[in-house]
Amino acid sequence: MSKVISSSLGYPRIGEMREWKRALENYWNGESTQEELIAKTDEIRLNNLKKQKEFGLDLIPVGEFSLYDHVLDTSATFGIVPERYNYKGGKVDVDTYFAMARGVKDAVASEMTKWFNTNYHYMVPELDHAKPELVENRALAYYKEAKEKLGIDGKPVILGPITYLKLSKGYEPEQFASLLNQFVPLYVQILKELAEAGATWVQIDEPIFSTNASSEVIEYAKEVYGTFSKEVPGIKIIFQTYFERLFNYKEITELPVAAIGIDFVHGKESLAQLKENGFPKDKVLAAGVIDGRNVWRADLDAKFDLVEAIKEHVSEDRLIIQPSCSVLHVPVSKKPEEKLDSVILGGLSFADEKLQEIVSLTKAANEGREAAKAAFEDSKKALEAVNASHRSNEDVKKSTANLTAADAERAQPFAERIKAQDERFNLPLLPTTTIGSLPQTAVVKQTRTKWRKGEISDAQYETFVKDNIKKWVEIQEELDIDVLVHGEFERNDMVEYFGEKLKGFGVTQYGWVQSYGSRCVKPPLIFGDVYWEEPITVKESVYAQSLTSRPMKGMLTGPCTILNWSFVHDNASEATVMNQIGLAIRKEIEALEEAGIKIIQVDEPALREGLPLDKTKWEEYLDAAAYAFRLSTATVQADTQIHTHMCYSNFKDIFDAIDALDADVISIETSRSHGELVQTFEDNTYTKEIGLGVYDIHSPRVPSVGEVKHNITRALNTISPKQFWVNPDCGLKTRKEKETIDALKVMVQAAKEAREEV
Ligand code: GLN
Ligand code: ZN
Repeated sequence: MSKVISSSLGYPRIGEMREWKRALENYWNGESTQEELIAKTDEIRLNNLKKQKEFGLDLIPVGEFSLYDHVLDTSATFGIVPERYNYKGGKVDVDTYFAMARGVKDAVASEMTKWFNTNYHYMVPELDHAKPELVENRALAYYKEAKEKLGIDGKPVILGPITYLKLSKGYEPEQFASLLNQFVPLYVQILKELAEAGATWVQIDEPIFSTNASSEVIEYAKEVYGTFSKEVPGIKIIFQTYFERLFNYKEITELPVAAIGIDFVHGKESLAQLKENGFPKDKVLAAGVIDGRNVWRADLDAKFDLVEAIKEHVSEDRLIIQPSCSVLHVPVSKKPEEKLDSVILGGLSFADEKLQEIVSLTKAANEGREAAKAAFEDSKKALEAVNASHRSNEDVKKSTANLTAADAERAQPFAERIKAQDERFNLPLLPTTTIGSLPQTAVVKQTRTKWRKGEISDAQYETFVKDNIKKWVEIQEELDIDVLVHGEFERNDMVEYFGEKLKGFGVTQYGWVQSYGSRCVKPPLIFGDVYWEEPITVKESVYAQSLTSRPMKGMLTGPCTILNWSFVHDNASEATVMNQIGLAIRKEIEALEEAGIKIIQVDEPALREGLPLDKTKWEEYLDAAAYAFRLSTATVQADTQIHTHMCYSNFKDIFDAIDALDADVISIETSRSHGELVQTFEDNTYTKEIGLGVYDIHSPRVPSVGEVKHNITRALNTISPKQFWVNPDCGLKTRKEKETIDALKVMVQAAKEAREEV
């Protein structure tokens, strides 16, 4: 009997205990061989598949596993390797693959950027001179592996050609069609080989159709997917979108494919679209109903109602129930958590738990709510308990309820502030600084772990942190950097650290999510009203300042970033939470200022990534983010300099919002986009100060003085030397000590040479 089936879109790669990260890093550090790396990652992948099978998932995704990034995998599939890596054709070997991801001595890494509106980063394909060829059918290899080793008839997942091209660079818009024509036969080949191997369903990810770019490429979708269905009739293609609703709903649902995957969670309008337009009788709807991007447990009753509402338009034998997107974006399993408050823990659902929710929901959809009674009751009880314990603070509620525009204005305009600041700091032209964190060596991390486990005392840990601060203040003075940082040695992560100290937050022990490459973050949980109780960063900053006569920059994370990189409870309005965080950060800034810290950086690396995919919603989002930022920074004196930092390069389209932050200095990641950012300033009259990262910190490679100087002088063509700061493009925590010192030496040298010339 045909029935509703359960599926998923992709599974986290990192392993329950981040085994994947360790396997990769050991290999990169030369501590393991390639065979060991492959054996370990094979084991992780098979284990992931086995688990999904045990949960009872009907249709299990295969081939989305990666050694770094699935967009890079797609490039490797088609032999899209930029010339600088000396690729000779054929299957892209592991080291060339990692060279593209991380850079090597003679070749910088590919650009990395955020995957839609997430904190996951993908490697931007470079299509200049590309001659795409099918050099490796990864989807096929993984399909066969799952079948042979585990008896799983999986659903291969591939990144669709239209989204892949739209995410690539190195071609002019008018070349799009001809490039697409080169890729289509290669995709056909992949699909044919999959069909021959026995695959039935194939998920082709085309999330670009959940963005405004959809309408530019919708005509191509008709052609391309028409070709696929004609050439490979045996394969049932799921045209998969996620992260928001479908743009071009009608046209997409009419594409000649077997199924359309739609996000019914973050696609807030999806259900209305379905109701209004209906759904073709001959197609399957893969409905994303469990939130793949948040960690709170689903209210299964509400989800059941959603499924019922969907079923009014789609018959049972044409429905797949799945998460809203790949569960790559949530931690693996809540099982290992030992320390979290049991009520909060009960309200959580990570990847494994989400897949079990999917299975329960599918069972209920097929056999009625009663059939999954236990799961439904559990979910209800757990959520009631969390809601009842929801920490409410009436004072905080009041202070955010009565906010006005004036609460977020600095007393003086920038022109006045900068005079007071110049007088106070008396910095040279092209002042040098860094973005905040300094290398978090194995010793730093091990010592923190020991302290967390109680193996060393608070006092010992504090001394250890102080020693590191001292060591690095000396190194920075030696390097002759103008504005110093304390190094953030006491922080595990720029958001988690604040999550641990602010009220209304909870933190997990193992709730890791991949951010880029092997780098994972552990987003805190926001489950109640947020407020500040006592100084968080003052001790370290004041100590660092006491060691030097140069200005020491205080280092905080901004409200928008804290919000975007946390898992916020569904009950709270995001704008309200963001203002609560803004007021909490304000208290911290005031405490720093009072303690004599006169340059304070408030990082907002997540501002851009949180932009809604639907551009009509940008203004509201950006206004709220800028307001919360200003709320936190508005009360400082004129001669206190507010910096901010952002980790992305393309902000031409949000320039006004960046200006609206009213920060005295912004530093922006740019070197990874190979200087494209400078153009933004050509037609803008940005008057405040700015540092465009002059070298790429995501790569271990030490740049040459010439290169860095080139980046400085290129920027000076468009930005006045009076406005320009010289800094790396992001924090240095992931780098080794020696390469950091070597690179900073180069940076300072380049700044000095450039200073001579302006
Ligand atoms: N101050 C932070 C650091 O240097 C900024 C990190 C970031 O931009 N992601 O680590
Ligand atoms: Zn950054």
